[in-house]
Amino acid sequence: MAPYAKLTPPKDGRAITVASDGTLTVPTNPVIPFIEGDGTGPDIWRASVRVFDAAVAKAFGGERKITWFEVMAGEKANTVYGDNTWLPDDTLKAITEFVVAIKGPLTTPVGGGFRSVNVALRQELDLYACVRPVRWFPGVPSPVKEPQKLDVVIFRENTEDVYAGIEWKAGSPEAQRLLEFVNALLPERKRLKDVHQIGVGVKPMSEQGSKRLVRRAIRWAEAKNKSSVTLVHKGNIMKFTEGAFRDWGYDVARAEFGATTCTENEPVAGKIIMKDRIADSMFQQVLLRPDEYSVLATPNLNGDYLSDACAAQVGGLGMAPGANIGDRAAVFEATHGTAPKYAGLDKINPGSLVLSGAMMFEHLGWDAAAKLVLDGTTRAIEKKRVTYDFARQMQGATEVKCSEFADAIIASM
Ligand code: NAP
Repeated sequence: MAPYAKLTPPKDGRAITVASDGTLTVPTNPVIPFIEGDGTGPDIWRASVRVFDAAVAKAFGGERKITWFEVMAGEKANTVYGDNTWLPDDTLKAITEFVVAIKGPLTTPVGGGFRSVNVALRQELDLYACVRPVRWFPGVPSPVKEPQKLDVVIFRENTEDVYAGIEWKAGSPEAQRLLEFVNALLPERKRLKDVHQIGVGVKPMSEQGSKRLVRRAIRWAEAKNKSSVTLVHKGNIMKFTEGAFRDWGYDVARAEFGATTCTENEPVAGKIIMKDRIADSMFQQVLLRPDEYSVLATPNLNGDYLSDACAAQVGGLGMAPGANIGDRAAVFEATHGTAPKYAGLDKINPGSLVLSGAMMFEHLGWDAAAKLVLDGTTRAIEKKRVTYDFARQMQGATEVKCSEFADAIIASM
C-alpha cells in the first residue's frame, strides 16, 4: 500500500479486519479514524469522544480501549493539504485500512462546481447503505401527539439515483448534445423543445445497487427480529428506476429470504412482511400510522427526505444518528449539518454524534458500551439537563452547554 502523505497512524492500537462475507474481527484496542468536521463539528466531537471513552471504560473495565486516529476532510483538510483538497487520499486510505470510522458534519457550499465531500466519501468507499434509526427518547419535545409510536430504521441507498452527480447546466454543449440524442429516441409529440434552456441530470438505479441495499435491510430485520421491511418508491411515475427498485426488492426477498419473509397479500405468522409504499403515501403513513412500520428501504433521494422528516417527528436532527455502511468499510456520522452560526460556542446538541457512536459500538459487537451510551442519554434527558434546542421547548429544563450535556450523559451511565 502507498505510504500516507501527511498522516502517521498510531502505534498503540490494531486494525479491525473484515472478511469477504463482511464479518468483522475487532481487537481489544482498535484504531478508529475520526473526522471532527467543520463548523460546530469540533464542539460536538470534543463532547462525544469523552462519552465514547467513558462508555468503553465502564463497560469493559479497562480491557478494551479505542485508539483514536484523526484524519481530515472538509475545511481542515484544505488548510492542511492545500490545493483545494477537501477529501485527501490519506483519509480514504485510513478508513479503508482501519475499516470503521466516525465523522462530524462537513460544509457543502451550494452550486459553484463544489462536489459534496459527504457524497464523495460514500461513493469513493462504496458505502452503499445509509442507515438511520429514528426513535423517540422520553421527554424530548416533539411536534406530534404520540412520538413513541415511530420507531423505524431507514436503509437509504447511498451511491446511485440523482446523487450520482451526473448532470449538466442548461445551455452547456453536453446538455444540448444529450438532449438532442434523447429527442432522437422520442416520438415527435414527446420531444423536448428549446433544449438550450434545459438543465439535465441522470438518475441511474441498478439491479445490483438496489438489491444489495434491500438485502442489507432484510438481514438487519432478521437479526433484530423486526416484523416488516417496506420498500419506499415512486414507481408509479418513474417505472424503470423507482419501480424497478421495488421489483428488485421483492425479487431479493423471494430468491434469498424465502424462508423468513412473506408478502402483505400472503402473510405468514412469524415471517417478516415485505411491503411497498409509494413515497408520498409513506410520508403520510409515518405521521398517521407510524407503528405499522419498522424497517424502511428506500432509493437515495426518497430516503434523504424521509429520514429528516422522521427525525423532525421525534424531536429534530440534534438527536438523529446515522451510518454509511459498505461491504468493506463503515463511517458513522452526525446527520445534521455544520450549524455554522453556533461554531465554537459549545452550545449545540452533541446527541446525533453521540448516538452514532452507539451505533458504531453495536457494529463492533460492543453492545454493552452501546447500551451505556443509550441509557446515559435517555437518563440525561429525563433529568432535563439538555442543550438549548430542547431546553427552549421543555418545561422546567436546565439549559446546559454541549460539553455539559456530555457530562450529564457520562454521569447518568
Ligand atoms: P444544519 O447545519 O443542520 O443546521 C440547520 C439548523 O438545524 C441549525 O441552525 C439548528 O437550528 C439546527 N441544528 C442542526 N444541528 C443541530 C444540533 N446538533 N443541535 C441543535 N440544533 C441543531 O443545516 P444547514 O444550515 O442547512 O447546513 C449547514 C452546512 O452543513 C451546509 O454546508 C450543508 O451542506 C452542510 N451539511 C452537512 C451534512 C453532513 O456533513 N452530513 C449534512 C447536512 C448539511 P436552530 O437555528 O433552530 O437552532
